[in-house]
Amino acid sequence: MEPIRFSSPSAIGHAYILSSPSREDALSKAREIASAAVCLNGHDVPCGKCRGCRKAAAGVHPDIFMLRRLPDKSGNLRRELTVSQIRDLSVDAQVLPNEAVRKVYIIEEAELMNLNAQNAALKLFEEPPPSVVFLLCVCNPDLLLETVRSRCAMLSLSGDTEQQAPDSVKLADSFLSAVRTGDRRKVYRWIAKNELSKLDATSAFIDAALSRCCDMLCGRCSAGALSAENQMHLYRLLQRCSDHLKVNVNAKHIFSLLAADALPGPIRRSIADTVHKIGEKT
Ligand SMILES: [Zn+2]
Repeated sequence: MEPIRFSSPSAIGHAYILSSPSREDALSKAREIASAAVCLNGHDVPCGKCRGCRKAAAGVHPDIFMLRRLPDKSGNLRRELTVSQIRDLSVDAQVLPNEAVRKVYIIEEAELMNLNAQNAALKLFEEPPPSVVFLLCVCNPDLLLETVRSRCAMLSLSGDTEQQAPDSVKLADSFLSAVRTGDRRKVYRWIAKNELSKLDATSAFIDAALSRCCDMLCGRCSAGALSAENQMHLYRLLQRCSDHLKVNVNAKHIFSLLAADALPGPIRRSIADTVHKIGEKT
């Protein structure tokens, strides 16, 4: 997998799940993102050269924290990550970073958080402290609660990404270009013009859009006018669409959802009307 680059530390989202069959690969990708978060270069991070990057590489950066299983009384590792570990982390996460602009928590074997720990983590991910980045390393993301997964951008490192139909990728790219402008009317116009009616074509489009959105969250393509928070919002919306499509919700509903919610904001009323009015004009 190619190295991760972000336009700046603040372009990094607040929570990622790094999923790989190899614990080492997930951890090394987490370290890369952590390095980007504490890089002092300011843009095009990580630079690999500044004091922040060097400390991150040496494992001594004061704003990068590792959360692992603790040993029990007989010195064996506990089987789970416990709720008290997550609570301690939540308290610590409220404190501002020492020297970087972001503070990073790498949770190793995150799927070993027990149910209480996951619920505590969920609260934290729902209202994350602004400067914090959570990196959850997992072998099996299915062991995380659905609610936890939906709060994090999923980065799959298995390398065997499904081949996507070029048409869906093109469509997804043009959709994201519209959303990236941050201009709701451009999104409406795009939907009026490109709305699909077939379910499998819509699924392929949503899959492609999810994967491009993930690229955006990992700094592999430009995010335009979208803040990290809005990128995450879009990512979660696309995940919701993908879930709806699994139970055969009709395509029209999916595009209405995208029209109403691709950009967060108060205008939700008569979305379908607006879409159609704009559609008539174009
Ligand atoms: Zn750097």
